[in-house]
Amino acid sequence: MWTTETPATLITFPKTQLKACGIVTLQVNTGYGCNQTCRHCHVAGGPERTEMLGVETIDTILGILKNYDIKTLDITGGAPELNPNLGYLIGKARKIVNRVIVRTNLTVLLEEAMLGFAAFYRDNGVELIASLPHYTQDMVDRVRGKGVFYKSIHVLRQLNEMGFGTGLLTLNLVYNPQGAFLPPSQHIIEEQFRSELFEKHSVRFDNLYTICNVPIGRFADFLRRSGNYGRYMERLASAFNLGTLDGVMCRRLVSVGWDGSLYDCDFNQAAQLKLDGDCPQHVRNFDYDVLAGREITTAPHCLACTAGQGSTCTGSTCADSTCSGSAPVLRDGNSMSSSG
Ligand code: SF4
Repeated sequence: MWTTETPATLITFPKTQLKACGIVTLQVNTGYGCNQTCRHCHVAGGPERTEMLGVETIDTILGILKNYDIKTLDITGGAPELNPNLGYLIGKARKIVNRVIVRTNLTVLLEEAMLGFAAFYRDNGVELIASLPHYTQDMVDRVRGKGVFYKSIHVLRQLNEMGFGTGLLTLNLVYNPQGAFLPPSQHIIEEQFRSELFEKHSVRFDNLYTICNVPIGRFADFLRRSGNYGRYMERLASAFNLGTLDGVMCRRLVSVGWDGSLYDCDFNQAAQLKLDGDCPQHVRNFDYDVLAGREITTAPHCLACTAGQGSTCTGSTCADSTCSGSAPVLRDGNSMSSSG
């Protein structure tokens, strides 16, 4: 059992038989290029990154969406808008799947070459998930860079004017903690965001998703540099919640990297953790049945998904009784209690 004395290097995700139970979402990473260099970015995105999803891989992805009953295409990056093939992907995918999500950092929509994207999203009924780690300037600029807060507010207002977040088109926000701690209750912080953003900035949105910072990429570097890595891992481990396992996103999602490689999720992609041995490793070998029942490859960073209220790309998790996982056990074979 973990204790506060357990060294971080010995903290691991409990040995589980965490299995996928279908594929509801194909999450596609368009590349790691970004106009920002946020302190918590798990893919370490930035202006210097050149990885880019190409048209050939996009066509393979479109073929998969056509051939299988996958309901949602979830597009992430980096900043997806910086990939010149994004319009092609969305335009084609919109005719195949009901739900196309783009994860936007907002400020990229102010770049001169990107000015038409908001209208394109509107015209294609794209659902937006926008990063805004807090409702105050100080907190946002500290994590995402000077000036990012007011640029983000400016874009949010423009999106509201187009109908996003006002009942016509979906605009969800993402909160993540500014330091080495767990997110607060999603419900409570959502109400704070709603009243602060509306009263001070006339900004509206649909839902707020709280996401726990995953200790990989730039956030792991930050934790190590600040001497907080061990304490953060300990915090995640001691908040392990058995009840979150049904809802972890990898159980219903497959992640596609910019080069077409397949992963259990965007975090495993960033950590270069491959799928379980028998699975196809690339979109060109996509096998729905194998992937839909695969065993998930877990690592210590998975503790960020299972701490407290749970954390996914769409906020805190809730159990799905149609999809029960095997009870996790510690490496010594003991059953895991929900409190860890
Ligand atoms: S990081 Fe989370 S979503 Fe990814 S494999 Fe681990 S538990 Fe699943």
